[in-house]
Amino acid sequence: MIAEVIVDISNSEVDRIFDYAVGNVAVECGSRVMIPFGNRKIEGYVIGLKDNTDVPPDKLKEICDVLDDRPVIGKEMMTLAHEMSKRYHLRYVDILRLFIPSQMRGGKIKELKKRYVRIADAYRECSPDTFIRPSAKAQREVFDYVAEKGETDTAYLGREFSAAAVRNLTERGIFVCFERGQRRTPYSAELGENKSVTLTAAQQNAVNAICESKGISFLLHGVTGSGKTEVYMHCIAAALQAGKTAIMLEPEISLTPQVLRNFRARFGDSVAILHSGLSAGERFDEWRRLLTGEAKVAIGARSAIFAPLCNVGLIIIDEEHDGSYVSDSNPRYSTLEVATMRAKYNGCNLVLGSATPSVESYHKARVGEYQLLELKERIASRPLPEIEIVNMCEELRSGNNGFLSRRLMSALSDCMDEGNQAIIFINRRGYSSFVMCPSCGYVAKCERCDVSLVYHRDENVLKCHYCNNRYSSLDICPQCKSPHLRQGYIGTQKVAEQIRKMFPDKNVLRMDNDTTQNKDSHLEILRRFGERDADILVGTQMIAKGHDFPCVTLVGIVDADMSLHFADYRAAERTFQLITQVAGRAGRDVKPGRVVLQTYSPNHYVYRLAARNDYAGFFEKECNLREVTKYPPFSKIVRILITSESQDAAFAALKADFDDMNVLARENSDCFAYLSAMKAPVKKIQDRYRVQIIARIVKDFDRLIGRIYDITDAHADGKSTCFVEINPSNMS
Ligand code: ADP
Ligand code: ZN
Ligand code: ZN
Repeated sequence: MIAEVIVDISNSEVDRIFDYAVGNVAVECGSRVMIPFGNRKIEGYVIGLKDNTDVPPDKLKEICDVLDDRPVIGKEMMTLAHEMSKRYHLRYVDILRLFIPSQMRGGKIKELKKRYVRIADAYRECSPDTFIRPSAKAQREVFDYVAEKGETDTAYLGREFSAAAVRNLTERGIFVCFERGQRRTPYSAELGENKSVTLTAAQQNAVNAICESKGISFLLHGVTGSGKTEVYMHCIAAALQAGKTAIMLEPEISLTPQVLRNFRARFGDSVAILHSGLSAGERFDEWRRLLTGEAKVAIGARSAIFAPLCNVGLIIIDEEHDGSYVSDSNPRYSTLEVATMRAKYNGCNLVLGSATPSVESYHKARVGEYQLLELKERIASRPLPEIEIVNMCEELRSGNNGFLSRRLMSALSDCMDEGNQAIIFINRRGYSSFVMCPSCGYVAKCERCDVSLVYHRDENVLKCHYCNNRYSSLDICPQCKSPHLRQGYIGTQKVAEQIRKMFPDKNVLRMDNDTTQNKDSHLEILRRFGERDADILVGTQMIAKGHDFPCVTLVGIVDADMSLHFADYRAAERTFQLITQVAGRAGRDVKPGRVVLQTYSPNHYVYRLAARNDYAGFFEKECNLREVTKYPPFSKIVRILITSESQDAAFAALKADFDDMNVLARENSDCFAYLSAMKAPVKKIQDRYRVQIIARIVKDFDRLIGRIYDITDAHADGKSTCFVEINPSNMS
């Protein structure tokens, strides 16, 4: 028999299938194997078995070894790898590497095994006096201990009694020695109670709709605090009941011990957790429990979509709008698309949940591609927090040029006087170099694209990152003639300092990239705040997601505009989502919540609609804009990013690709809304020059993307690297 093998080297020259003779090892499709390659031995994956090969017998090598006790890549994952390679033009090996824990490769981690002894059957019934001499006291002690306790850890016996005695008894066949896999359990110390709740009518409706259907994609639009998690749990329980498995994804940052504890409490050992906070050993064990079928529910961040489960009955993507579901480094893929592929293969339901669905998903619900389910009210009819908009231009005019408005300061005082907790949110997304006038709120925008312009210091110009239009830089505000234009953002540290000065007897915690360098530190900050170890939490985006702090009654949004003027076509959408999510942290328990939102553009539709909790209104407005400007969901953006150490090579590749792209666009003129070549916004990273082609495709995307891959393949010359990205979440 012949095995088709993908070798575990990521290199375009070896990105093909190699044939190996199976010999007398037990190889199956999906097995990980050791193979001779060149003059060394490396790992590979068997992706097919066949009877014949074109490789001449004297050239055909034999597989050396099979690495695990079972195939690690199942039939479904094989199909998925195939689909992903077609869709994203990825190397097989890069895809297969997504499917298994990275530590497993190269044999860096294995199942943890411990040695145990038990008393052999033949010696169990008769008196030990007949085979242990009275003088061998140590042997007798060990024997009596094992006789009483049953199977015992050999290392423990060696430590507490005598290793020599254990050895002697084993050699004489009185003890039987064996190995057993040891499980490294994450969050095993996290005990939670399994609250059983009665679903609200709206929750029950959603659960019924999901459980009574098959192969449908649902969009669960539920306001913050409406109890979406409970809906997920009921649907997962139903899938398990039906003998199936389930996958639930959360953004990495929301996978707090609190969430995991609740799931463990409800589903016990059926749950396996996959995320980067686990130790390598824990992750491997959790993954293996899914592979062997011992665990049936996978919970994790983006990569848990590749959980090695069979017979998947339900896939849930919580906070589906979250940007972290798009991988924008190699291998690039969209989690939502991969989830759709898996749901289709398994004929199961896909549930996307959010309080603020992405415009694309909501659009799909509108046109009937997704079935819309709504939870319009918070649990126990708790009101959504009231959002109050403060005009910072006015604040400046009346002489307050600090970060905090008088309104927010007085609200903060009230909140502290009442003994409650507050969250102060500082909006900071990406590199923010838009130009704004603090006296009138003017922001420089591209005339063609309606996105904010970005100031480029080196050339002293303003640029649009979507169409590359250039504008001269501004010295005074074109609207109110003020010479004091502002660039850049407010630092969390400064805000935290000012608040500490205002409330010297209160505890202020800060959470941003600086305070969370360490992997667990963000959890530590959330834990301390949750345990009321602090009164005020000052932080960035990280504090916006899904956390449930019952005593928070005030949320202050310091610099709401930051993401609004981000140079991204989704700026308005992201801002609406952020405000709704952060505001949703307030008043989640019995005490009502309040939100103070500071802005220089108080009349912007995003703020008006967010303050009214009017998602549908926001969607209408945004969707119309996108339709006119031909941005997603009315097109797909394709970015061909070319990087090279040599600027000439980058430009040569760019020109070759662009010429062919122009031909393609001419032949399909009704499919292209836009096509242009330019330098990337960040022109050089790690000594590599970056240039790009951007296209917006309004029709026939599935056909055209194949043509685009053909074009970029044709000009791959080894001097430059090319990535094709579909609707990238990051355009830098
Ligand atoms: P969401 O994810 O929609 O923001 P959560 O799932 O966090 O909301 O639920 C908010 C709170 O309501 C949680 O504390 C949850 O335990 C509680 N909850 C959910 N469903 C019910 C219910 N049917 N009855 C009582 N409490 C509930
Ligand atoms: Zn533009
Ligand atoms: Zn102005």
